[in-house]
Amino acid sequence: MTIADQIRQVRSNIEHYCQQANRSSDAVKLLAVSKTHPANAIQEAYESGITEFGESYLQEAIDKIKHLQNLPVIWHFIGPLQSNKTRPVAEHFDWVQSIDKPKLLERLNQQRPAGMRPLQVCLQANLFNEPQKRGASRAELLELLAIADSLPNIQLRGLMVIPPAQADLNKQREQFAYVNQVYQQLQQNYPAMDTLSMGMSSDIQAAIENQSNMVRVGTGIFGARQEIKK
Ligand SMILES: *Cc1c(COP(=O)(O)O)cnc(C)c1O
Repeated sequence: MTIADQIRQVRSNIEHYCQQANRSSDAVKLLAVSKTHPANAIQEAYESGITEFGESYLQEAIDKIKHLQNLPVIWHFIGPLQSNKTRPVAEHFDWVQSIDKPKLLERLNQQRPAGMRPLQVCLQANLFNEPQKRGASRAELLELLAIADSLPNIQLRGLMVIPPAQADLNKQREQFAYVNQVYQQLQQNYPAMDTLSMGMSSDIQAAIENQSNMVRVGTGIFGARQEIKK
């Protein structure tokens, strides 16, 4: 299947799951995760109507962003971020979804170039106590929310989660239901938050049933990834 075919398929799945969940079919934004895939694959997805792309590896991402600078797309950084690597993210991305430390927020706020729109931020939550995974615990989220909310060059948009992989649909549902419950609670104090970024190629359905409004799809659009580049 071509990238265009795969996008058609993913969109039709999203629409179907939205209908099943009694949600409007445009309630869920599709973020195409293009990490490890070349610039021409991004170009092809753009021609099929995709306007938002997620990247995880900083150097390859910056190369592609520069190469495609005439393409009016929105770039999301969704990968692990070290605090000494924040500057290129602040300079080249529209969104960052992998914030799990106060220092990242402070540096991105400081390094965001004047004249650019505030950086759109989702906090990465680790709500299932997985020590090997990045992401903030529930207690850490409270601190991060307060900081993000106070910084002028940061616009707090919501939460991003990658729950433990589960093959079973009901287990996926349980996990996303819990994330949604935490999100709804936090939103009461931060009503400007409007983004619950959850669901990837293999768990879109359960995510959409539980109020995800941004799914991040890589494999389902671009096929299997190459070896991870640095
Ligand atoms: C790679 C990645 C995805 C996409 O995963 P697929 O299973 O290929 O759809 C989504 N979110 C994050 C944070 C990722 O790193």
